[in-house]
Amino acid sequence: PAADAALLEHVVQGAPMQQRRAVAKAITLLESTRADHRLRADALLNAMLPHTGRSFRLGISGVPGVGKSTFIEALGLHLIARGHRVAVLAVDPSSSLSGGSILGDKTRMEQLSVNEAAYIRPSPSSGTLGGVAEKTREAMLVCEAAGHDVVIIETVGVGQSETAVSGMTDMFCLLQLPNAGDDLQAIKKGVMEIADLVVINKADIDENAATRARAQITSSLRIYGHHGHGEDGAQAAAPWMPEVMQMSALRNQGVDAFWATVGRFRALQEASGRLTERRHAQDEAWMWERIDVGLKARFRAHADVNQTLSALTQDVRAGRVAASVAARRLLDLFH
Ligand code: GDP
Repeated sequence: PAADAALLEHVVQGAPMQQRRAVAKAITLLESTRADHRLRADALLNAMLPHTGRSFRLGISGVPGVGKSTFIEALGLHLIARGHRVAVLAVDPSSSLSGGSILGDKTRMEQLSVNEAAYIRPSPSSGTLGGVAEKTREAMLVCEAAGHDVVIIETVGVGQSETAVSGMTDMFCLLQLPNAGDDLQAIKKGVMEIADLVVINKADIDENAATRARAQITSSLRIYGHHGHGEDGAQAAAPWMPEVMQMSALRNQGVDAFWATVGRFRALQEASGRLTERRHAQDEAWMWERIDVGLKARFRAHADVNQTLSALTQDVRAGRVAASVAARRLLDLFH
């Protein structure tokens, strides 16, 4: 509709307040579950696509209390002072259960949230992790179309959501506390495998602990960390080695060093073609993820399947029919 053409125009080139409102409106439309809204949202998304992709997409993860909002506020203000426009989005896997989101809460980033060059949006609060991630990914595209050249996506440290965020960002950073010991043992192999950079925050509290933590994490990255090989066609260029750095977000120490590291990562990824390759692979994986989800929903809703499903499920549970046989029978009903 014509109204959505105006919405698109305001997102892409509206005056600041108009643009801000349009971004919020577009994201609300994308988050809506109404079928007619979804049709409009899909059209809007496609029309927006040529204006997207020009930001650096930064994923930030860590347990509650590690200092994510303190860090993002410090980083955001640092970037804005250098002429960037920053968007902060969140993937909160618990928001669908609790109905409220702590992540991306504006009160957590007081100075950043009132800054004209920043746009902060909390995690969408409905649906599964996959649904929340999808909405966030689409919101990221809206922010890019509005000219935000750094998009930060934050999440909490629970495996699945970290994978989802690393699957939609150019660089994935893990924030850690310096009080090593047991905490470090808990660093999951899976997270180490996807981290491009590990930041030990609150280094001001105990510098020795931070140094020890850095050594430990560095060695565990050597074991589990990804080293940029084998997954793309760019093996010839030197791969990025995941790094560990110390920081005090509260004292604003290490923020410029962080951004310098991001800059080195980005330059390397761009020069080797890995940045583009990573995005292409993400887009394709995303498409298949949504197909999987959609297929399952359609499968369950299919009349013949629906009619047979519960009886066959009982048969499987009771051991009368082999699970794989039941699956094949149901799949055969689905066309
Ligand atoms: P989040 O839950 O990960 O977003 O953590 P917050 O940013 O809300 O920080 C949790 C608490 O840790 C707050 O009281 C912060 O002031 C404090 N904090 C954050 N960064 C630092 C730091 O670098 N050093 C110290 N000493 N405290 C910090």
